[in-house]
Amino acid sequence: MKKIVIKVGSHVLSDDGKISLARVDSLCDLLYLLMQKYEVILVSSGAIACGQAQINLERDSVLNKQILAAIGQAHLMQVYTSSLSRYGKFCAQLLLNASDFDSRKRTNYAKNVVLGLLKLGVLPIINENDATATAEIVYGDNDRLSAAAALHFGADMLVMLSDIDGYYDADPRTNKNAKIRKIVSALDDDEISTHTNKSGSKHGTGGIATKLIAAKMLLDENKSAFLASGFDLSVVKDFLLNDKQNGGTLFRA
Ligand code: ADP
Repeated sequence: MKKIVIKVGSHVLSDDGKISLARVDSLCDLLYLLMQKYEVILVSSGAIACGQAQINLERDSVLNKQILAAIGQAHLMQVYTSSLSRYGKFCAQLLLNASDFDSRKRTNYAKNVVLGLLKLGVLPIINENDATATAEIVYGDNDRLSAAAALHFGADMLVMLSDIDGYYDADPRTNKNAKIRKIVSALDDDEISTHTNKSGSKHGTGGIATKLIAAKMLLDENKSAFLASGFDLSVVKDFLLNDKQNGGTLFRA
């Protein structure tokens, strides 16, 4: 079975700053189908948005974001657990941060857990350990975390589900004529740096730059990445289950 990492952005899971149960259900419907064909690892943002739905605390400092994430992570897992139970499936939580992948020992511990969960048919759900990952919170880095997870846990592909349905030749928010790029076979640092420092969305903080960095990490290892809409899941479904690319951007060498 091929192994895939699915990364879902906070925007996709939340509606008006609150976790959307309907969106989580649609995602879990898809994950259940994917689990019949692939070994699936999920990287899910959304803890801060979940926390904000639970408690009235502004996300105006790193500490407040960490507190919101700590509150929201428990709720986020509850929501996934309940949604997956409709299919008799279980999930498991792994809180990691970039520095865990700097240590071969820690990476191997995490890898053994992930592989063990996959063997049992349990869905591993990874998120940043926000309490100790201040830089990640500031930069909103689940994109890079998901790429590291894909590479270190031996996945064949990284799939990023975002509020944007692909990588465009210009920012689609400001350029109405921007066209989606269907296939990207190379990314260089100059191209990526033109997108750096431009803010992304209100809840996601990565923007397109961290998605390109993540895609490049896969390309550099001769693996592929796919960026598609997390709102209209039919595109990723067609791509992964029916081998049809009806949208999105495929990064492959
Ligand atoms: P997520 O919350 O899913 O992680 P973000 O909202 O952080 O995603 O990043 C995606 C955003 O990046 C899009 O909403 C889009 O407006 C912006 N963006 C800027 N330039 C581009 C581009 N060339 N192609 C696609 N999206 C772009």
